[in-house]
Amino acid sequence: MIYLNGQFMPLEEARVPVLDRGFIFGDGVYELIPVYSRRPFRLVEHLQRLEHSLRGIRLPNPHTPDEWSRLIQEVIARNPWEDQAVYLQVTRGVAKRDHAFPVDVQPTVFIMANPLSTPPRTQVERGVACITAADNRWLRCNIKSISLIANVLLRQLAADAGAIETILLRDGFLTEGSASNVFVVRDDMLLAPPQNHLILPGITYDVVLELAQSGGVPFEVREVSEFELRSAQEVMLTSSTKEILPVVEIDGRKVGAGRPGPVFERLYRLYQDFKAQVMRAPER
Ligand code: PMP
Repeated sequence: MIYLNGQFMPLEEARVPVLDRGFIFGDGVYELIPVYSRRPFRLVEHLQRLEHSLRGIRLPNPHTPDEWSRLIQEVIARNPWEDQAVYLQVTRGVAKRDHAFPVDVQPTVFIMANPLSTPPRTQVERGVACITAADNRWLRCNIKSISLIANVLLRQLAADAGAIETILLRDGFLTEGSASNVFVVRDDMLLAPPQNHLILPGITYDVVLELAQSGGVPFEVREVSEFELRSAQEVMLTSSTKEILPVVEIDGRKVGAGRPGPVFERLYRLYQDFKAQVMRAPER
C-alpha cells in the first residue's frame, strides 16, 4: 500500500498526471528512510533534511513533522514487512509546462514502502569493488533532488564494470558516491569529506561520525585528495540501505590489504549495536 495526495491505495492503482512537474522537469525532492522492526531509523533527521531540500527548491513543506510522521507510520503499518525502506517524494505538482513556478498548485506527495534489503553478508565480509569517475553533477548536491540523471549515468558506469558503486572526484578531491557517502582511513585516522554543497549530507554519515566520536575512533572532517583516496588503508561507503560497506578494490587496484580493515570492522559493529539499541528504546 502506498500514500498519494491524501489517500492510501495499492501501488498498482496509483496514478500521477503526465503534466506533473516531477515527470516533466524532475522538479521535486525525496527521502529514503530505513525502517527496522517497523520503527523508522533517524526519522527526525530525515524530516529535517527533507525540509532543507524543500527550502533549496523553494517549495513550501506540505506537512508538519508530526503529519509526516503519522503518514509514514500509517504506510509502515499497512505493509507486511518488519524491515522496510520508506521512499517519499514531493513534487511541485501538476501544471501547464512552463519552467517558472506555477501559482496555486498543490504539490504531489507520494510515500511508498518496499522491503528493506541490506547488503548480503558476502559484501560485508569480503568487501566490494568500486570505480571512480569525474563528478559532473550540479553544484547543489546537498539538495536531495529527484533529478538524478547524472547519478544514474555515473552509477551505470559501475554496473557496466561489474562494480558496486562509482566514487566521485571533483577537482582532484573526493566528493561522495553516486548514491552513498565515502570515508577513507589513513594513518589510522578516519577521514570524512566536509558536508557542503558538493555532497549530500548523509544521515548514515552523521551516525558514523557520532559512533566514531563515542567509540573512540580518531576522525577528522576535511577534504580528501584523489591521491589520499587511492593510497588509503581503508575506504568505506555509507548509506541508509548500504549501512557501512568496506571497499576493497578501486579501479581494479587493491585498497590496503584488499580486505575489510579494522576501522571498518569496529564501525560496523558499533553501527549494528547502535541500531539494535535504538530499536529497543521507547518511541520518541
Ligand atoms: N549521497 C548520495 C548522492 C545519496 O544518494 C545517498 C543516499 N540517499 C547518500 C549520499 C547517503 O545518504 P543517507 O545516509 O542519508 O542514505
